[in-house]
Amino acid sequence: MAAPDRPVATPAQGTWAVQDVRLAGQEAAPAVDVVVAGDSVLAVGRGAAADVPAADRVDGRGGLLLPAYIDTHVHLDKVLIRDQLAEHDGTLAGAIGSIHAAKRGYDVEDVRRRARAVIESSVLTGTTRLRSHVDVDTIGGLVPLEGVLAAARDCADIADVQVIAFPQEGILRDPGAADLMAEAMRSGATVVGGMPHWEGSEDDQREHVRLCFDLAVAHDADVDMHVDETDDGSVRTLAMVVAETERRGWQGRVTVGHVCALAAADDEYADEVVAGCARAGITVVANPVTNLVLQGRGDRGLVRRGTTRIRELMAAGVPVAFGQDCVQDGFYPFGRGDLLEVAMVSAHTAHLTTHDEQLAALAAVTTVPADVWRLGPAYGVAPGARADLQLHAAGTWPEVLRLQDPPTHVWSRGRLVARTAVTRELLR
Ligand SMILES: [Zn+2]
Repeated sequence: MAAPDRPVATPAQGTWAVQDVRLAGQEAAPAVDVVVAGDSVLAVGRGAAADVPAADRVDGRGGLLLPAYIDTHVHLDKVLIRDQLAEHDGTLAGAIGSIHAAKRGYDVEDVRRRARAVIESSVLTGTTRLRSHVDVDTIGGLVPLEGVLAAARDCADIADVQVIAFPQEGILRDPGAADLMAEAMRSGATVVGGMPHWEGSEDDQREHVRLCFDLAVAHDADVDMHVDETDDGSVRTLAMVVAETERRGWQGRVTVGHVCALAAADDEYADEVVAGCARAGITVVANPVTNLVLQGRGDRGLVRRGTTRIRELMAAGVPVAFGQDCVQDGFYPFGRGDLLEVAMVSAHTAHLTTHDEQLAALAAVTTVPADVWRLGPAYGVAPGARADLQLHAAGTWPEVLRLQDPPTHVWSRGRLVARTAVTRELLR
């Protein structure tokens, strides 16, 4: 990275401050100072940094101070393997199949190295917490899990990584996967994943959901499933997940990802199941960057967008997060762990353009995933919150979103973990 544009002093465990910054959604209010002590925010307010020695202050220059992003849906085991894979038809099934050979050849060190590279690029762009799905199946066994857990340990000084046991190849259609899922939950995964729509029949889909919740109950774990990632509006495992969430009393502990089929479903079903998600406290993670290129492959003329009903879910009070999902893998050739880019693409996809809608796009990469992680008052730019922060040169979120510049500074647990300086010269 380029050298920082000014010296910064942030003693590891001392008290320091960033002064003259604006906060998201409060652009009209005067600039404030944010004081950090140890790993936590101590104070936020005008002149709050007055007692902090000048050498321990970062000059925010009227820029925007945001809480660090949370990428709550990414697949760190698969990142950066695109170049090893055979070209395929671009569909979900094509992508899953294309990875099989690579997955057979994974070793722990290879997964660890690739996952670490994307954790690092995520931190550089303002993300300090990542929740990774990790394939658990009879092809790769627990190698992807071991590799991602090793990368998480390698990066524990700059980011927090949660790991989801994810049965990418199904559970009933991949005999042995159920046992591996249980082993993964005993071996460091803390969230139960799933992919019910991948099973061969409705009965098997229902059984898949039931098995995942059995495992979650056994480990007192949250559930975070891939749900209905298809253009086929008749696929309805989301309703099964809603029903199982309520039957098990798992309200507030369930997240569903992708949910593309909801866009193709009839409005009557959609209204009913969206209300069910709101009632059951289910969070939806849309992954527009990936699904824009993965879905709608068979359409001509008006090509479907491949994302779920983002605005309708938001309007119904269902929390909606946005995730990176994929970085240069069989599903998606782009990506760099940059949630500012993800928020921008997602805003285009979901028609989020008014001031409040743009703030909803910010919430989708900050406070909504923070609720999924149940961080409560430990998250945000407020006294008592853990000091996971990012400073931007632009002074408002709409400007940060529009300009797409990386944060100049990123802090994790109160420690400066990344700096970026962008130099531009117009020569005329
Ligand atoms: Zn995914």
